[in-house]
Amino acid sequence: MKNKNVILNLFFVSLISTLTISGCASSTDAGAVGVDRKQFLAVPSEQVNQMALQSYDQVKKEASAKKTLDVNAEQLRRVTAVSKRLIPQVQVFRKDSLQWPWEVHVISSPDVNAYCMPGGKIAFYSGIIEKLNMTDDEIAAVMGHEMAHALREHGRERVSEGFAQQGLLILGVATGVIKEQYAQYAALGSTFLLTLPNSRRQESEADHIGIELMARAGYNPRSAVTLWQKMGAQGGAKPPQFMSTHPSDSTRIAQIQEWIPQVAPLYEAAQR
Ligand SMILES: [Zn+2]
Repeated sequence: MKNKNVILNLFFVSLISTLTISGCASSTDAGAVGVDRKQFLAVPSEQVNQMALQSYDQVKKEASAKKTLDVNAEQLRRVTAVSKRLIPQVQVFRKDSLQWPWEVHVISSPDVNAYCMPGGKIAFYSGIIEKLNMTDDEIAAVMGHEMAHALREHGRERVSEGFAQQGLLILGVATGVIKEQYAQYAALGSTFLLTLPNSRRQESEADHIGIELMARAGYNPRSAVTLWQKMGAQGGAKPPQFMSTHPSDSTRIAQIQEWIPQVAPLYEAAQR
């Protein structure tokens, strides 16, 4: 508990000190697809990654207790193999990410879900693999998309914007009250990180970077189209969790189709 308080304390000390020096910049290099939007990233990435790590450890702990963590050897083998080809490609977008402690697990669950938390913590739920009858290329499409969210630090952006909207950044700087109430605000930060969905703009960036990652790794970027078509067919009265944050509408699919010529040469080069 004491250790946790130290972490939280560090969070706000570094939050306040970072504020004075942080401007708006893009978290990644542009790559072949040219994503270069400037982002508001006022909260330190170390602290966001720490929040994510706690949540990921919790997910693993619960799955382990239920004997659903990495119990399907074939699914784990496939997902791990895809990750081993995708991870070396991340350096195109940011050099530091090659050194991240990337981690991949498969959880046996009917949930149609997959994510990559900040800092490179990946989870696939067996439901998404089975219900969508995914090919390896389609697994690469989902993983590339999710890895792109982590590379772009979309979670950190959400926490930063959330704090700013609550006036907490100004409050913290102006009065220093945050230091006394840090536990409360750290909980709020976790809420922004873990429960708020990515914006449509962030989704679009993840699609764009995702197809470059998969193309460079030698996975057919056109599989991103079939993936979202399959996802769309999963809809219905009660769409799965992944669908609620990743609407598979015609706009998304049309946009991906439009971008494929940008990355097709990378895919062809990877085939040779
Ligand atoms: Zn997404």
